[in-house]
Amino acid sequence: MEKKLLITSALPYVNNVPHLGNIIGCVLPGDVYSRYSKMMGRDALYICGADEYGTCTEVKAREEGVTPRKICDKYIEIHKQIYDWFQIGFDYWGRTSAADPRNDSEWNHTQISQEIFRQLAENDYLIEQEMDQLYCNELETFVSDRFVQGTCPKCGYEKAKGDQCDGCGELLNAVDIINPVYKLNNDFSLEIRQTTHLFLDLPKLEPRLREWFERAKVHWDKNTIGITQAWLDKGLQPRCITRDLKWGTPVPNTEKYGDKFRGKVMYNWFDAPIGYPSITSNFTKDWKDWWMNPDGVEYAQFYGTDNVAFHTIIFPASLLGTNDSWTLVNRISAVNYLTYQGGKFSKSENVGVFGDGAIDSGIPSDIWRYYLLLQRPEGKTTEFSWYDLQAKVNGELNDNIGNLANRILSFTHKRFNKQIPELKGELTEEDQSFIKEFNETVQEYHNLMTNIKLKDGLYSVLKLGHLANKYMVVVAPWKVWKVDQDRCGDILHILCHVLGIISNLLSPFMPTTSERINEMLGFRYDPQTLQTGVYQGSELQKPTILFSKIDDDAIASLQERFG
Ligand code: ZN
Repeated sequence: MEKKLLITSALPYVNNVPHLGNIIGCVLPGDVYSRYSKMMGRDALYICGADEYGTCTEVKAREEGVTPRKICDKYIEIHKQIYDWFQIGFDYWGRTSAADPRNDSEWNHTQISQEIFRQLAENDYLIEQEMDQLYCNELETFVSDRFVQGTCPKCGYEKAKGDQCDGCGELLNAVDIINPVYKLNNDFSLEIRQTTHLFLDLPKLEPRLREWFERAKVHWDKNTIGITQAWLDKGLQPRCITRDLKWGTPVPNTEKYGDKFRGKVMYNWFDAPIGYPSITSNFTKDWKDWWMNPDGVEYAQFYGTDNVAFHTIIFPASLLGTNDSWTLVNRISAVNYLTYQGGKFSKSENVGVFGDGAIDSGIPSDIWRYYLLLQRPEGKTTEFSWYDLQAKVNGELNDNIGNLANRILSFTHKRFNKQIPELKGELTEEDQSFIKEFNETVQEYHNLMTNIKLKDGLYSVLKLGHLANKYMVVVAPWKVWKVDQDRCGDILHILCHVLGIISNLLSPFMPTTSERINEMLGFRYDPQTLQTGVYQGSELQKPTILFSKIDDDAIASLQERFG
């Protein structure tokens, strides 16, 4: 029996508004793959949610004078609204944080993370290590490196960051910074204090991880394999998995360490991926059928290349270290970055399109999906550009698919009494060779989609449009009508089915457009290759234009508005 398919996309961090790069980076491709898999009849589950713990949320909360949970409540709604608008069809959208992490011990994310933590301690995969860290007296807490600023010990630059100096470019340890201050309030002084943390013993887990990697990488993209291999080649180092923060999953008592680490929390990157199973457990009590079922489940992950090592080294190593039989990732599709007109998206500088801006842009969500998927940064960085968007919408979409749909539907509606004509004669050689080439391209589409080559999958749908337009020009039904109406009916019979299958194969990318084509056709085409004689004899709706062209003025004004 075919395995069930579990799909996750990187959990977006909720203290910001997602931009187009974030959307094409994980949630949108995950949605397309999920829609495609479900269309093909697979039992698929698409899980995502908000990543809420960590320093950034804590700092933001302090700035706004509210609790971290309040910050999360605010942003998780913003994210959900944007993803809904983009028609991201999660089966479940969840979250990682408990309302009150110290006291909500029943929260699934806390329980599952703590259980994994305990198993790692008991199986001797944790190491205790003392370290120096900067402590802020005013805040009464240790501060993370990125909130430290001071003089670079190497070049004397006065505004060096805790982890890197912008003066000389050297990577730094925050404790080596001279006269360190708290970045968000320079009156807050910092001092070095000793603290003890637990580290994940990656060197000890490495042989098991390597053995798994060699088997698992078959269906990973090249980027991901390269990054993972580079980590392994360098030799793995122990990774600190605890933090002196308040906003996080509490480190549990363990047999080995007792309550020595009480008051500390798990480092966010350690327990954030555990959000995948914990969010699933909030969706269904049978979550272990997905997560503890490696023989019955195929697991696919979507994220950006900066997330690779967390998902191919640290997360699987943590799960392997439990000695339980976890479902580990089989398919990975990690993408590079989308730039905005060659530069960076920046909310503070008002550059680029963020989710809220896309909603207000006047451009329908299907069009955004279409363009972003054509620009999906598979294997290399790609660029969002307004003029390119205009060209791809007006040319490829309007002139190709839009034109095809309009011509087929208008002609059938007008000449055949709103009915898809029945096939009366034999298929001609022209018909047969068209159908053959068409179906070969359909097969290409399925191969690409199965292998998560989504951008090329979408291009193959456009290719189907080109083939059909070409066929239409060759067989010229408007000429045939005048001499042989039965033959003309056969041509339109074929073309209506062509449109049906194009609509079907387009549906993972442009669900609303696909629905509209189906409505106008009066039936939903289910087969996965072109066959004639499938329609149910329903009445065609009066066709309306599928897409509108974006004119130069509109593009200029959008460009002006979004920087
Ligand atoms: Zn320096």
